[in-house]
Amino acid sequence: MRKDIYALGFKAQPWWWEAWTPNTALSQDPPARTQVVIVGAGYGGLSTALELRRNGIDAVVLERGVFGIGASTRNGGMISGGTNLGKGLGGKSPIAEEFERNKAALMGAGADSLTVLEDIIAREGIDCGLHKNGRFVGAWTPRHYDDMATKVEVYNKYANAGASMVPRERQHEFIKSDYYYGGMHATRAGHLHPALYYKGLLEAAHKAGAILCANIEAERTEKTATGWRVLTAKGPIECSEVVVATNGYTGDLTPRLKRRVVPVASHIIATEELPEPADKMLIPGMRAIGDTKRVLTYYRPSPDGKRLIFGGRARFTAAPPEVSAPALYQYMVDRFPQLDGIKITHVWTGNVAFALDYMPHMGTDEGLHYLLGCNGNGVAMMTYLGTQTAKKIAGGRNTPINPLDGREFPDHPFYNGDPSWFLPAVGAWYRTRDWIDRRLAG
Ligand SMILES: Cc1cc2nc3c(=O)[nH]c(=O)nc-3n(C[C@H](O)[C@H](O)[C@H](O)COP(=O)(O)OP(=O)(O)OC[C@H]3O[C@@H](n4cnc5c(N)ncnc54)[C@H](O)[C@@H]3O)c2cc1C
Repeated sequence: MRKDIYALGFKAQPWWWEAWTPNTALSQDPPARTQVVIVGAGYGGLSTALELRRNGIDAVVLERGVFGIGASTRNGGMISGGTNLGKGLGGKSPIAEEFERNKAALMGAGADSLTVLEDIIAREGIDCGLHKNGRFVGAWTPRHYDDMATKVEVYNKYANAGASMVPRERQHEFIKSDYYYGGMHATRAGHLHPALYYKGLLEAAHKAGAILCANIEAERTEKTATGWRVLTAKGPIECSEVVVATNGYTGDLTPRLKRRVVPVASHIIATEELPEPADKMLIPGMRAIGDTKRVLTYYRPSPDGKRLIFGGRARFTAAPPEVSAPALYQYMVDRFPQLDGIKITHVWTGNVAFALDYMPHMGTDEGLHYLLGCNGNGVAMMTYLGTQTAKKIAGGRNTPINPLDGREFPDHPFYNGDPSWFLPAVGAWYRTRDWIDRRLAG
């Protein structure tokens, strides 16, 4: 195992935290009564609070850690709208058929999520290194390339993706690597600095009058004659509505929802400053890059173009840096041999939440509102679902307000909310399948 990859001063925390570190600066004590209590202060919870306040509704956000401790300051910051929906659904399952029937509406909602994200960033004046310069998705095998080619029309028709195929001969226009068999370029995509976006959303919610409470866990909810009581170590909070926005950190507060999401770890490394700017050395056009492997990787230049931020499922469960960093480093050098010897300065991990149908969900369960199941793509999507949930509450609606609202949220008889017994096996199986696919590709 290589040990020469760590820079002096190497840190096991997100590189993003160099610009903004999770903290409690805007924290207030929770009141005894409010209109809406939101559990979880990630993009989902904060965008719910912001939109509620814009509609004149009182909102209290409870965060059991410091603000920004969840996935929302740990992610890759890659954004797109709609092209990831339905990914992972295959064959003729009832879920895949339902997606097929409703894909126009569902992908349309996915496309809207990017618009909502951009609108919030512009309206609130959030300075978060937004680059709207597209995404290249590399094909792991010629068959994956052909599969993607069959979907381009659908992506463009329903998600307005601005997508086109890039054959292997032209791949170097997008990525200085021979690793892929060509790929797809979607223009309606890009990347941002996730922690600076988070900071902007946190400040906007605070400025709009939401009460934000750090280090306060929602321990239990009780139904009352007029709504809900949320129990915390600082006392109970009476409210009319509760919104659960806990995604990959969903716990025993909501056991029924816990059984509907699978927390999966994702890991990222950041390189030291590159000898040449990333767009010259690695990724012309500074685009975001993904690929079609089952054990996928995703990567992008830092907003200043000086480093590479490289993520992937080095392990499917939380893993210490000494396990995840060398694995990611190898994936990175497989794609960019020119980076062999570069040092890494940061490695970190966080949880994404997969729904059993690979779709994001909002709705109500036994009277509790929820927005859950980012499936690895939540920067735009959880912002959108939070905004939509707030609009629904503000409108006094119980009926669905968009195609992602109120869809069946499946569970499974063998899944009790703890995936640790099967995720390592799934990871090993996916790695084997990737290997076989590539061998067959010749
Ligand atoms: C490594 C990594 C890379 C990713 N890359 C991308 C990417 O490039 N693009 C993309 O679109 N998405 C990406 N994602 C996904 C994205 O980060 C998430 O979808 C998004 O941040 C989820 O936001 P959220 O508000 O739903 O949840 P979170 O930000 O995870 O917030 C949930 C919060 O709920 C809190 N909580 C839980 N239970 C309680 C309780 N009982 N009381 C109080 N608080 C509670 C937790 O402490 C947590 O802070 C990535 C995720 C990870 C981990």
